[in-house]
Amino acid sequence: MKLVRNIFLVLIAIVLLSSFTVTAAVRGNKTLTEQDKYFMQLAIKKTKEGVKDGQTPFGACIIKDGKIVVCAHNVVWKTTDITAHAEINAIRQACKKLNTIDLSGCTIYSTTEPCPMCFSACHWAMISKIIFGTSIEDAKKAGFNELTVSNEKMKLLGMSYLDVTGNFLKEENLELFKMWLASLKMMAY
Ligand SMILES: [Zn+2]
Repeated sequence: MKLVRNIFLVLIAIVLLSSFTVTAAVRGNKTLTEQDKYFMQLAIKKTKEGVKDGQTPFGACIIKDGKIVVCAHNVVWKTTDITAHAEINAIRQACKKLNTIDLSGCTIYSTTEPCPMCFSACHWAMISKIIFGTSIEDAKKAGFNELTVSNEKMKLLGMSYLDVTGNFLKEENLELFKMWLASLKMMAY
């Protein structure tokens, strides 16, 4: 009986330790500034515009050298384009605006953790840093058909050096899902 209890305690310890490690990796122990907060709030504001326009609750801003390059929200329903996620739209617009395909030195503030498609687009555009609010798991809980591969896992599998920080302004970002669910204009996909 004692052995069973000991095995159980060791298992609990392993589970707690691994969840702590994952959380620490996503949070990255980085110090986020008031400026980061400001830019994330811009992404949140953009997302609200999208929700009011009948779109799903996702937004992203791309910043370079402390200056806003572009903010975009998801337009999947508006354009009947399943790939028109906020991050993809922001990357396309930023590349056009800066007349380059190289967005190194840019940070993308995304209200939700970029999906594997958007994470890959960030990689291709050589974006330096991703800061996101809610997680892919949160989007899944809201009804989206997410591929549940986290950015940390993408980094690991793809050996990417992309700097990722998550769970930023989590509560404010979770509110976006609530706002969208209350609007009942458009469905998840
Ligand atoms: Zn995406």
